[in-house]
Amino acid sequence: MAEHESLEFGKADFVLMDNVCMEDFMANLKLRFEKGRIYSYIGEVVVSVNPYRAMNIYGRDAVEQYRNRELYERPPHLFAIADAAYKAMKRRNKDTCIVISGESGAGKTEASKYIMQYIAAITNPNQRAEVERVKNMLLKSNCVLEAFGNAKTNRNDNSSRFGKYMDINFDFKGDPIGGHISNYLLEKSRVIFQQDGERSFHSFYQLLRGGPESLLRSLHIQKDPKAYAYIKVGGQVKSSINDGADFKAVADAMKVIGFTSEETLTAYKILATTLHLGNLTFGVDGDVILIQNPKVVSVIGELLSTPEDNVEKALLFRTVATGRDVIDKQHTAQEAGYGRDALAKAMYERLFCWIVGRINDVIEVKNYDARVHGKNTVIGVLDIYGFEIFQNNSFEQFCINYCNEKLQQLFIQLVLKQEQEEYQREGIPWKHIDYFNNQIIVDLVEQQHKGIFSVLDEACMNVGKVTDEVFLQGLNGKLAKHVHYTSRKVGRNRNLLEISYFTETGPYSVVGFIDKNKDTLFQDFKRLLYNSSNPVFKAMWPEGKLRITEVTKRPLTAATLFKNSMISLVENLACKEPYYVRCIKPNDVKSPLLFEQERCRHQVEYLGLLENVRVRRAGFAYRQTYPRFLQRYKMISEFTWPNHDLPSDREAVKRLLQGCGFDHDVAYGKTKVFVRTPRTLFSLEAQRAD
Ligand code: ATP
Ligand code: MG
Repeated sequence: MAEHESLEFGKADFVLMDNVCMEDFMANLKLRFEKGRIYSYIGEVVVSVNPYRAMNIYGRDAVEQYRNRELYERPPHLFAIADAAYKAMKRRNKDTCIVISGESGAGKTEASKYIMQYIAAITNPNQRAEVERVKNMLLKSNCVLEAFGNAKTNRNDNSSRFGKYMDINFDFKGDPIGGHISNYLLEKSRVIFQQDGERSFHSFYQLLRGGPESLLRSLHIQKDPKAYAYIKVGGQVKSSINDGADFKAVADAMKVIGFTSEETLTAYKILATTLHLGNLTFGVDGDVILIQNPKVVSVIGELLSTPEDNVEKALLFRTVATGRDVIDKQHTAQEAGYGRDALAKAMYERLFCWIVGRINDVIEVKNYDARVHGKNTVIGVLDIYGFEIFQNNSFEQFCINYCNEKLQQLFIQLVLKQEQEEYQREGIPWKHIDYFNNQIIVDLVEQQHKGIFSVLDEACMNVGKVTDEVFLQGLNGKLAKHVHYTSRKVGRNRNLLEISYFTETGPYSVVGFIDKNKDTLFQDFKRLLYNSSNPVFKAMWPEGKLRITEVTKRPLTAATLFKNSMISLVENLACKEPYYVRCIKPNDVKSPLLFEQERCRHQVEYLGLLENVRVRRAGFAYRQTYPRFLQRYKMISEFTWPNHDLPSDREAVKRLLQGCGFDHDVAYGKTKVFVRTPRTLFSLEAQRAD
């Protein structure tokens, strides 16, 4: 008996459970985790439990075990699903995608890296230089993106603070020839604020700990993170990660990817400018606003390659157009502080997007002529920030959790709903399986005119001072009756909006929703950066070219931008053949030994895994229309080869399958034949080849 079929390690595929119930599901998951079997299947879905220890299962020998095998031939593994996606892409010319989901710390990012590593390992047997180059870039890009986009949170020492979708393009031989990364909403508020116990983005600490003396001197920064207001808010400056070593690794990766030394230096300058900005304080002298530490301004001017006076002016004044006149209006100290923080966040976000853009420049498919070589196919890998509910939750968590709900909806659509609908359509006997359809929660957030994002946008459109409370009143007015919405006041001035998700409630403090949604950056800053003599800044801030009188359009709000990007992401995924990895976090203390039953059960529940097993069990692994089925397998039977004289293709397929003894494993629908187990299919394939 193959190892993965041995009972000692539990059932490798949950579909094989004797009795489909939560208790048995959990017992099997726990047994497998304790035996070091961190992967299991539900049909073709991989269920993964974070082992929190190094596993010796990703080496070259493991790659060889999974290469070109069918899913069921080997113990469950990420490599198997990566191989399945790759085969579908190569054999059937299908665009595929691998969607990795699970809560923060469940192992999504690690999984995405193993999947890419596998794909890199099995491709390019002929060692073509260009393909090797592309592979190297794709792998190297991870470490750069993680440096700038990940941070230590209370849930995960290396938490992704942005969503990432990476397309890998393959040529007709199945070798990677390029790729494209889309990034989603970086949690930029982290640049100026972190909750207790958390850190800002790794990049800051890496620079301080790993940057050479001479570099730090030229940036006018010192090594101690505690010297910088912005990155010490969370009180946590160390992490399990070796920042110093990572600095070097990231610098090397940037070099390999093709960042010039000027560009890399500019990235460091932005980090340093951010740190200096955080230390700026404002005061008033009579009617005049001033900066209390002017030396810092001169350093910032130097780093931004722009005159110090301009920096000061942009920080203290705002140019406004009143009719035909343009005047400089002085900020209050509070406005100046707001402007400073907005500048720091915007510069960092721009830097991040610019890095993604530069990586895309070098990995984009070049010189591929589809007319000569045929369509190039794609495997997409999606690794987003996981569902998270903290002690305090704000706009960012609201967006992150919306994104997770949206992906769960896609899973429901593809795996649960469509599957059941197809059986009904085809007239296959079928008992409906209940599941929680979260469309109602997705609508609550994104619906036009009625959803929370729309109410927020409306509040932001109002002229005059709109407060977060006014926004909440608007919500209460529109959504009071919604079963998944409530609002609550905690203490004297903490207003919460609450969403009841499938298994828990997400309370979000409305403080900051309006500001974060408007996401205003005074035009003065954009002009300041555009007018820098450093060409990299200029390129990052093209809209700084506009004069104040030319700026008329109201930019789209953060919520609208995010919603639009999520909708197009889901559309993009929906037109590909999906493969799923569902990650589970076994405990909250990063222990390799602890399987916290309740924590895990909760995740199994909201990921809808039990429903998944039920649908899958009642369902069929493979289906094909009768004519196409015949086209592929008619040579197996004398009744169908070379042509049949039966009254219909349906009858012909029936005869063929009866002849092979597979009749018990299939069902005949109106237009398609359904095959229950993959084994039957393998056997048909084998007979076809004989
Ligand atoms: P977030 O949503 O916060 O980004 P995530 O799901 O991406 O979370 P990861 O960063 O992938 O979580 O994993 C968290 C940590 O768990 C890793 O840093 C690593 O220590 C451990 N881990 C995850 N997967 C594995 C694995 N396959 N083998 C060993 N350790 C792992
Ligand atoms: Mg992650």
